[in-house]
Amino acid sequence: MTDMLASEVASPEGLVHAKPVHELADRYGRKFEYLRLSLTDVCNFRCSYCLPDGYLKTGCAPDQLSVAEVRRLVSAFAELGLWKVRLTGGEPTLRREMLEIARTISHVPGIRTLAMTTNGYRLRERAADYAASGITSLNVSVDSLDPARFAAITGHNRLPEILAGIEAARNAGIRTIKLNSVLIGGVNDDELDAFIGFAADHDLTVRYIEIMRTNENVAFFAEHHRSGQALIARLEDKGWQRAPRRPGDGPAIEFVAPMERGRIGVIAPYARDFCASCNRLRVSASGKLHLCLFGDAAIDLRPLLRDDSQQASLVGAIKSAVFGKVAAHRLHEGNSGATPHLASIGG
Ligand code: SAM
Ligand code: SF4
Repeated sequence: MTDMLASEVASPEGLVHAKPVHELADRYGRKFEYLRLSLTDVCNFRCSYCLPDGYLKTGCAPDQLSVAEVRRLVSAFAELGLWKVRLTGGEPTLRREMLEIARTISHVPGIRTLAMTTNGYRLRERAADYAASGITSLNVSVDSLDPARFAAITGHNRLPEILAGIEAARNAGIRTIKLNSVLIGGVNDDELDAFIGFAADHDLTVRYIEIMRTNENVAFFAEHHRSGQALIARLEDKGWQRAPRRPGDGPAIEFVAPMERGRIGVIAPYARDFCASCNRLRVSASGKLHLCLFGDAAIDLRPLLRDDSQQASLVGAIKSAVFGKVAAHRLHEGNSGATPHLASIGG
């Protein structure tokens, strides 16, 4: 992976000057440097808030982007100054070409961080391959540190092997590891101390995510959604303090404690001003650009991905679409847009 942006030039003195060709921004001044790219809608888990009945193939699913199409797509975003890509899904590791896609993205000039969000399936066996393919950052979904609860939430009794996978990822040299934990009222909201202990022991970030309402989890959401604000209050009571924001930080609020090694983050999409710090765009497995996780429509980039000759049009299409991004989602009004579940866009 090169550290030099596509638009950077080396002066005769060897100094590198950033010379942004374009910048990806919307009319509200938000800048977009981070793409979440879904590799597949398919998943092998049955998380109760996401795909409680497992992945169901509906109709004829659109073709997934080829490796060459992914290269063109990411190159266009990189030309617009985007430097971080996260592979997601469905379960991204189920995509046969996943390692080839990771290698390809990690060689796109300008891409400095390649991350992946996974349910941890076969992570222990594959962590070294992920690191070798250029993945530098991994989010692993672990909704409970209790094996029986984990099995009840995900439909898989695999907690011990996933925790061993996290260890293997660390040993393979993956620098940044986060645990994603969806806060499920009445199920795992008594585990804060266990997660704090885990973050401290493993020097990683635990990222609590409030359940988001989608079109398919309305009843589950009504029963189990709990506000992240209560969690934040509990963290503050325990002496945790808000960490200063770093470049590239998105809407997560992160906390640190003087005597603790790990960090705790909270993603609270129902909090006021959550969308003001949005820095991310999403592309589905079939090449649709989603400007908001809970938007009504998506822009089909596929026709511009077929060959290299359309790169300039692709860059222009992305730039003008992003400029029109809406100010905020409408989750407060009980409107989840067109999103059936987050496995369809990658969360
Ligand atoms: N399968 C991978 C995984 O679970 O890590 C990647 C895709 S998953 C859609 C990405 C993240 O979204 C996971 O951390 C998952 O827990 C979270 N997620 C899924 N549905 C959600 C919902 N309705 N509300 C909040 N988070 C959700
Ligand atoms: Fe699959 Fe991830 Fe959804 Fe769980 S959260 S069902 S692992 S896509």
